[in-house]
Amino acid sequence: MSLLVVGSIALDTIETPFDRADQVAGGSAVYISASASYFTAPIKLVGVVGSDFPKSELDFLESRGIDLAGLQVIEGGRTFHWSGRYHYDLNERDTLDTQLNVFENFNPVLPDSYRNSNYLILGNIDPVLQLRVIDSLAQKPTLTVCDTMNFWITGKNKELMETLKRVDVLIVNDSEARLLTSEPNLVKAARKIMKLGPPIVIIKKGEHGALLFTGDTIFSAPAYPLEFIYDPTGAGDTFAGGFIGHLARTEDLSDHNLKKGVVFGSVMASFGVGKFGTEALKNLSDIDIHRRYRDFVELSKFDE
Ligand code: AMP
Repeated sequence: MSLLVVGSIALDTIETPFDRADQVAGGSAVYISASASYFTAPIKLVGVVGSDFPKSELDFLESRGIDLAGLQVIEGGRTFHWSGRYHYDLNERDTLDTQLNVFENFNPVLPDSYRNSNYLILGNIDPVLQLRVIDSLAQKPTLTVCDTMNFWITGKNKELMETLKRVDVLIVNDSEARLLTSEPNLVKAARKIMKLGPPIVIIKKGEHGALLFTGDTIFSAPAYPLEFIYDPTGAGDTFAGGFIGHLARTEDLSDHNLKKGVVFGSVMASFGVGKFGTEALKNLSDIDIHRRYRDFVELSKFDE
């Protein structure tokens, strides 16, 4: 078993109503692989950074057992930069700035040792590149999960439609699901997304949890009611990393296990938002994760 993660690698500037952090490591590939590393190995990362990306952050990823053979470091180049500001309602944020930098000419090239990966997660990047990665694999993976965002839904819609035909699971948030389908009702939106390709759809609703749609079944997982949310950046990617990490570890794609994957995703997101950037994903233990998983079970358990 091996998990291939492709996505953005970023230096983010984040403002919340309570604090601010400049140039912290982030990006979909970083959050996904750090989160998944608590469940499965090996993880093979594909992405691009400039020479300004801190070595300590690459050391952290390596210390989590993440293979960086597919990481391109562009000498003299600047890493992708994203800047966002959260409102008092932390489900709401404005993008202040997006500088593609080295990401603009990124061509994901898979080292030979990556081509047989059987779990693939396509983090939020240009759908053209997502498709190129699918086409570079030696065989169809057991499971392909895809994430995307407004930027690509509006900017590269035709290309995204091609990618969706080739993936098993789409993970999006509620506003992205509505934008993608022009359908305000999330149940109907999920059904429409299934018709576009992926037989499994997950719709995240921020602090209101996540919905899993498979066939005719709907599963609703709560979000953990935290007293303090420090930084929601990357919560969606951290969720996705926990979800695919659990599935890759257990190699069981039953509906029952997909539901557990959604809860493990929610567990990881609940930790991730506790500090700026990836800080909260640096020192978790299996005990922390399993305790919080039990808390989730208790949170929504009731007698028939
Ligand atoms: P999330 O909070 O799950 O939406 O993920 C936030 C991460 O997405 C940040 O670390 C950003 O660097 C990254 N990001 C923001 N915009 C883009 C984009 N257009 N393409 C790829 N990654 C992005």
